[in-house]
Amino acid sequence: MSTVNLLSAGTLYVVATPIGNLGDLSPRAQQTLAGVAAICAEDTRTTGVLLAHFGISRPMIALHDHNEDRIAAQLVARLQQGEALALVSDAGTPLVSDPGYALVRAARDAGLPVCAVPGPCAVTAALSVAGLPTNEFVFAGFLPHKRNERIKRLRALALEPRTMVFYESPHRIVESAEDFAAVFGSQRRICVARELTKRFEQSLRLNVSELPAWLKADENRQRGEFVLVLEGAPEHEDDVRSVNDSRRVLEILLRELPASRAARVAAEITGEKRGPLYDLAQQIKPNPEG
Ligand code: SAM
Repeated sequence: MSTVNLLSAGTLYVVATPIGNLGDLSPRAQQTLAGVAAICAEDTRTTGVLLAHFGISRPMIALHDHNEDRIAAQLVARLQQGEALALVSDAGTPLVSDPGYALVRAARDAGLPVCAVPGPCAVTAALSVAGLPTNEFVFAGFLPHKRNERIKRLRALALEPRTMVFYESPHRIVESAEDFAAVFGSQRRICVARELTKRFEQSLRLNVSELPAWLKADENRQRGEFVLVLEGAPEHEDDVRSVNDSRRVLEILLRELPASRAARVAAEITGEKRGPLYDLAQQIKPNPEG
């Protein structure tokens, strides 16, 4: 494997940084950060600590949710003048629930090269240890903070057959776990992964209904950063048939009825719960009067 660092002029390098363990900053990431004209960083203090650890000293430009739309054009101008720039976030892969989209989009719109320097990401780290199917998955990001909206979002995913990945903060992990248990019951497995790559790393797979009690059993289990990996809806032939039947019934009813009535009638016909059917109806045909 080549270790020669040949950065291309006028290129935006999107560089993944550690999600905890500093040993995870790849040699190529180090070379890239050391070689660019400037580093666009979500928080220059956080990235400053990382750079100091590796003895790297480059100019930094703050790029975060509140200014990236505004400064993207200036950064594109610098790239067009031939400078190579790096983009990093506080941890993991930029743009994955982190800033950077406005800059990458602007660089693409200007026809400039954008180059990935891949590495840590909490989504793939959690998936890799979850012990749940990974051939297809859905990244669901952070759930809404308000409980009723969170439950609505979870219900909308009730029939999703692919493995789902969620980010969660320690402030809401117990409440969210209760909501997962209420919506998905005892029929599904979930992997809770906290503090990945760090000193108090912990991950285990358990039944969704067991998660709230597991978290409450020890306050330390509620600390740190969390990823939840949820098993998809059952793929058994009968279940798939019943999911498809429900969808078909809803599609027919939605030709004539608003979502709420279609969901009520579909629940009577299929014996399924009205909440998930209503959410599915909204996905099939968003209806403001539903
Ligand atoms: N860009 C990052 C990535 O590639 O994973 C994610 C940034 S997002 C703002 C931060 C969230 O990612 C945390 O709230 C947590 O859900 C998850 N996360 C980040 N580091 C983690 C870790 N070491 N262990 C578990 N989850 C982590």
